[in-house]
Amino acid sequence: MLDELLHFDTLAIRTGHQRTAEGEHGEPIFPTSSFVFSSAAEAAARFSGEKPGNIYARFTNPTVKIFEQRLAALEGAESCVATASGMAAILSVCLGLLQAGDHIVSSRSIFGTTSILFDKYLGKFGVATSFVDLTDLAVWEQAIKPNTRLLFLETPSNPLTEIADISALADLAHAHNCLLVVDNCFCTPALQQPLKLGADIIVHSATKYLDGQGRIIGGAVVGNQELVGKEVFGVIRTAGPSMSPFNAWIALKGLETLSLRMKAHSHSAMRLARYLEQHPSIEQVFYPGLESHPQHQLAKSQQSDFGGIVSFKVKGGREQAWRLIDQTRLLSITANLGDTKSTITHPASTTHGRLSDEQKLAAGISDNLIRVAVGLEHLDDIQRDISRGL
Ligand SMILES: *Cc1c(COP(=O)(O)O)cnc(C)c1O
Repeated sequence: MLDELLHFDTLAIRTGHQRTAEGEHGEPIFPTSSFVFSSAAEAAARFSGEKPGNIYARFTNPTVKIFEQRLAALEGAESCVATASGMAAILSVCLGLLQAGDHIVSSRSIFGTTSILFDKYLGKFGVATSFVDLTDLAVWEQAIKPNTRLLFLETPSNPLTEIADISALADLAHAHNCLLVVDNCFCTPALQQPLKLGADIIVHSATKYLDGQGRIIGGAVVGNQELVGKEVFGVIRTAGPSMSPFNAWIALKGLETLSLRMKAHSHSAMRLARYLEQHPSIEQVFYPGLESHPQHQLAKSQQSDFGGIVSFKVKGGREQAWRLIDQTRLLSITANLGDTKSTITHPASTTHGRLSDEQKLAAGISDNLIRVAVGLEHLDDIQRDISRGL
């Protein structure tokens, strides 16, 4: 076992790998569905949980375990279970910790598919969700009912980069016997560690920055042994939304460069935000690193840097926004994020296109809004590509 005093960057590279008899330096991939036992008694002891060890790769695989131990170390958690996708992580939390009649209070500004999961699919099984404004503590409190079990949020929000006060919401959750679940996809543990701020559970889409190179779909749930190691693990074991060893290997290698990449994404995003803020064709820029961001101080206090997502409103409307997007040659026109490749998207007609005009207005998703997920290409090239259409 590694020394607990090791720094983040070291844990990201060294945690979890116990060399096999081959003495390999790189982490091995174990493409096997099952594991064999030395005797019938040994098999019985493993199945009953009396003896630890591998059983069947739906819930025990050594490569997946390296990824889980490494991510748990980075989030400062007792336990982590890997899942097939970010959505599988969120579903597994709900299946493990909720029952019919329970209630969720969720930020309205969450990944669109997560809202559909809560509203349509959990709703079918008698779990209702109330959606509230991320930054208004009073409305969170008003929305909590006697049967509320979970508070759920993402911070910074997508695409307007609003910041939730994680400590205050954790206190609110605990005062009402609820758990706070944070989707830490945008910051990753390299920039923000919600458990240290009082959150109970973290979910990840490993598809985004954890892999960071656009190669896999994956996810994870992080938290304590009781909630995650037992309850959420039980869902993975029984329902099977597991991560494959190949994807786990990609994701665990991604973690090795996570902190370097997040610093580089943040550095370029900060400079792009400053450039856009002074540009005469830009109406407003949304980036938590800017002093003009209404929650800049809060972001500074709970994040170590501000991340790779920059949104901005061009002067004009949809025509001007679409023209800027269509004049890029380098940036990828796609809604994905967390890749080495920079992406550009028009939220009002894509990720938030299903909202009514009224809902868009309430959520601040105007027709002149553009979101850029800043990748790792040279900043000058990214900037030139965006300025072509300005
Ligand atoms: C992409 C994303 C998800 C879902 O993850 P998948 O791996 O695509 O299932 C959840 N939350 C956030 C914030 C995301 O960006």
